[in-house]
Amino acid sequence: MATLEVEGIQKSFGGVQAVRGVSFAVEPGEMLALIGPNGAGKSTCFNMLNGQLRPDAGRVRLQGRDITGLKPREVWRLGVGRTFQITATFGSMTVRENVQMALLSHHRRLGQLWRPVARMDAAEADALLARLGMAGQAGRPCGILAYGDLKRVELAIALANQPALLLMDEPTAGMAPQERVSLMALTAGIARERGIAVLFTEHDMDVVFSHADRILVLDRGALIAEGAPQAVRNDPRVREVYLGS
Ligand code: ADP
Ligand code: MG
Repeated sequence: MATLEVEGIQKSFGGVQAVRGVSFAVEPGEMLALIGPNGAGKSTCFNMLNGQLRPDAGRVRLQGRDITGLKPREVWRLGVGRTFQITATFGSMTVRENVQMALLSHHRRLGQLWRPVARMDAAEADALLARLGMAGQAGRPCGILAYGDLKRVELAIALANQPALLLMDEPTAGMAPQERVSLMALTAGIARERGIAVLFTEHDMDVVFSHADRILVLDRGALIAEGAPQAVRNDPRVREVYLGS
């Protein structure tokens, strides 16, 4: 079963048809990139997938369950994680504490209110941070981290919730090219290990072509191409509207 199935979702803002009937699926462990020029409707699609916006029409299914129109909190509970363009960490708390808080809320969600929280979650947080190459930073306050490291903490926080689907809207914005590649390589590795379906948007085409298993191309609210990176790269319509050649 696909992790996410999207069927004909639409959204208008006043007279603007931001998304006009978009359908696609994401499989477990798959890295799917959603690309397209500014204003194409990428963020609007994301917002309909995590409950921030209710589609005007169409359905969204997570692991076979209809989640169309559910509130963000319910969607999150059902296993949709999201990373944001602006990081949402607590600066005065350490990296480990930030991840522990996320683990705590995940375990609460599962009904484990009795858990001896601090000790177990610290070990679990450290294991997750080690997987993300952040073992050496666990005891540092988030407020003093470099931007690229903060992005990893943000990823750790999203992963702490054990999502089935991870939505990443421009996860590497503001990062140096080398950091982008390593963040996405790490994400892809973890997605495959854990069977997490990842849907991401990204401006850096090198990142897209090297880390996406499949690419969707959105233009003025509609999908104009879908396929393996090589096929999409050579698609004449994509070259015309998006890559500008
Ligand atoms: P992208 O993320 O691909 O750059 P968006 O989804 O942000 O595109 O925007 C798609 C279109 O919808 C644009 O024309 C944008 O101006 C419009 N739009 C997005 N959000 C809103 C909103 N909250 N109110 C009005 N118009 C919006
Ligand atoms: Mg956007």
